[in-house]
Amino acid sequence: MSEKKELTDLTKEELETELINIGEKKFRAKQLWQWIYFRGEKDFNNMSNLPLTLRQKLDEHYTITRPKIITEQISVDKTHKWLLEFNDKERVEMVYIPEKDRGAVCISTQVGCAMGCKFCHTGSQNFTRNLKVGEIVGQFMVARDAYHEWPSPTDETRYLSNIVVMGMGEPLNNLENVIKALNILTDCEGIGISRRRITMSTSGIAPRIVEAMQKTGVRLAVSLHAPNDAIRSKIMPINDKFHIEEIMKACAEYQKGDHSRYITFEYLLLKGINDSIENAKELVSLLKKYKIRALFNLIPFNPWPGCSFKPSDRKTVEAFSEILEKAGFAAPIRVARGQDILAACGQLKSKNDNRKI
Ligand code: SF4
Repeated sequence: MSEKKELTDLTKEELETELINIGEKKFRAKQLWQWIYFRGEKDFNNMSNLPLTLRQKLDEHYTITRPKIITEQISVDKTHKWLLEFNDKERVEMVYIPEKDRGAVCISTQVGCAMGCKFCHTGSQNFTRNLKVGEIVGQFMVARDAYHEWPSPTDETRYLSNIVVMGMGEPLNNLENVIKALNILTDCEGIGISRRRITMSTSGIAPRIVEAMQKTGVRLAVSLHAPNDAIRSKIMPINDKFHIEEIMKACAEYQKGDHSRYITFEYLLLKGINDSIENAKELVSLLKKYKIRALFNLIPFNPWPGCSFKPSDRKTVEAFSEILEKAGFAAPIRVARGQDILAACGQLKSKNDNRKI
């Protein structure tokens, strides 16, 4: 018996083609789409406006799968972390970071990560594979199930209001699937999260930045973490391949002709490594040189088991922020969330091989 086909792997256009290929009319695809992505329905039998024969056909040959929840933890600050498992038993983590009346779901795009950033817990877990389209979309659907946000609420009323593509993995190394997944997540006849409420973060795969942003229309964040190549290469091996200059040129290209495009630079402060006053000044000169419109997200380091870095002390972080702010860049210091359950930035990991790096 052949395996059932996963419908959440298909874009809207692919779903239409699929239905036409099995002898159905195109408008059935739209109805099916709304059941899956507007109502969150998983059981074909409940899709009451589809004819019984079609429901049976769908049930026989297709499936709508959610990643399986293996564990769930809720932090003292209400940050919610899930360990999710796919059909082949591979796992990723997902996090919901609630604010007062809204919040962001941080989703993963790969199992493990090949980038090996030295400060990142995920990076200490080897790359296993790219996530499929349905596995990326399915994460957000699990969060929606948990917060009972079906049928799709409006932008104003939903709690799961934002998505950050900042979990495990480098999204630009799984670009084809990420583009399709973001198109599904933003489709207004389904889940309907607006593109301006989605931020995708890259470790700096410079040659793909412009294409990725043009094809997704979401907001760009770059994990910069250093003002020069010498420091960056020490903590981010990918910098040996794509130097800061290349990243800055790609960022400038992306912003060309569109003043609404702001870039967020993520900057993790590591004690004695990248947190000096000189480092902050160098950062300002760098952005001014390439005329980048940006804001900084200063992240106090969240230690994880086996790491050798230490967080910068509060005064250093504040002084760093002040220099950037004085130069005209917003540079808020991010409040770490979910630290007690290892859900904070750079702490995600789905395998228990706590080797030292
Ligand atoms: S910071 Fe991002 S790109 Fe770097 S190792 Fe971690 S998950 Fe990969």
